[in-house]
Amino acid sequence: MNQAINQFESLSILVVDDSLVQREHVISVCQSYGIKNITTAVNGKEAIEKLAITKVDLAFIDLEMPVMDGVSLIREIASQKLLKFIIVLSSKDPTLILSIGTMAQNDGLCVIGTFKKPLQSSFLHASLNKMLNEKNRQNKQTQSYDLTAEDLLVALDKDNILIHFQPKLKVEILLLSGVEVLARWPHEKYGFVPPDKFISIAERFGIINKLTLIVIEKAFKQKQLWKDKGAIFNMAINLSPISLNDKGLTEKILLLAEKYHIIPEEITFEITENAIADHVSRAIEVLARLRLKGFQISIDDYGTGYASVQQLSRVPACELKIDKSMVIDIAICPQQQAILKSTLNMAIDLNLKTVVEGVENLDDFNYLRQHGVDTMQGFLLAKPMEKNRFEVWWKEELSLLRKKYT
Ligand code: C2E
Ligand code: CA
Ligand code: CA
Repeated sequence: MNQAINQFESLSILVVDDSLVQREHVISVCQSYGIKNITTAVNGKEAIEKLAITKVDLAFIDLEMPVMDGVSLIREIASQKLLKFIIVLSSKDPTLILSIGTMAQNDGLCVIGTFKKPLQSSFLHASLNKMLNEKNRQNKQTQSYDLTAEDLLVALDKDNILIHFQPKLKVEILLLSGVEVLARWPHEKYGFVPPDKFISIAERFGIINKLTLIVIEKAFKQKQLWKDKGAIFNMAINLSPISLNDKGLTEKILLLAEKYHIIPEEITFEITENAIADHVSRAIEVLARLRLKGFQISIDDYGTGYASVQQLSRVPACELKIDKSMVIDIAICPQQQAILKSTLNMAIDLNLKTVVEGVENLDDFNYLRQHGVDTMQGFLLAKPMEKNRFEVWWKEELSLLRKKYT
């Protein structure tokens, strides 16, 4: 707790509310977490004036205020990019607060809480943690890598692209249902280059089909080795949207499957929601052929794209993989809960199993278990691991995890 308080100490906060009592209440809850740098405003107009001259990390925004209300303020903050993090507070109906939070999120703000007044201390604590996590994530993403397509080609040719495995667990009894194969590039200068960085290079410079097949071959080879030892579980492999252009992809996959005695039903190909939305007929063609051969298809990163229910219903998928952005901190975020609920209903209607990724904390884990998700993946359960580490985890640590969480 003390460490958390120290972390929050440096935050600067703006409280926008026309009621003195409510302002003072928020200030005192913030102060109980060590926050000292607090500015106030009595309406949206004053808030914008203050934001122009003060650096603020987080604003608490009341909805009903004279002169300029909370909704206009949120719009203004988003369009002028005055700050990133907000908490919406109101004495109004929770559904209304929620929908305004969703509007703000769609405007590009990071809404770390939408609460009915008065602000509760435990909610604020969870929101502040969410904000720090998000900031850390953003800091990591801004690390820049000076990488070229040539570097990547050399790495592929020297067999320097590796695969790691992240478990997917059945929710009720934490049974291993499968692993996701994730590409890794150990680089002499940068350590492990995250796949988000090099997959995009591969996609832009026409190397992605080569990379995809290398990953698939490594995965199939490992699958066969595990199978020979009696270890049978599903293996999920990511397909780039660009792969949908490779007309010969299915045949190449089938040849590799034959070489390594792979049973297609034990392999899932993950393809992102956006790839489906952007190229629906091409996606259906490739995916239907894979599906006809028995491979499983998963709609990946669901919730980050804009595929319509109609488009999704035409894809021969078996699984809907709900993106971590919808999952992280779900236990404290009513907007995410509302979206998850409708997503799970849609999955039932489309006859899709559901997997959630990004399960990072126990509160989210418990929330998701109680709300009808089939399978989970996330750092709380297991991080992506190289083969030997995964084997130890499976043999020794999974049963401990089961004891701890079930
Ligand atoms: P993805 O398919 O959404 O994969 C899940 C990503 O979430 C992985 O990141 C994984 O490490 C991360 N993750 C898992 N659990 C958690 C969690 O609890 N919290 C958080 N914050 N993250 C979690 P990774 O390995 O960095 O991969 C990033 C993306 O790169 C993948 O996202 C996938 O789209 C792409 N990718 C990885 N390997 C391949 C590949 O072989 N081929 C293609 N086409 N794409 C790949
Ligand atoms: Ca994936
Ligand atoms: Ca994802």
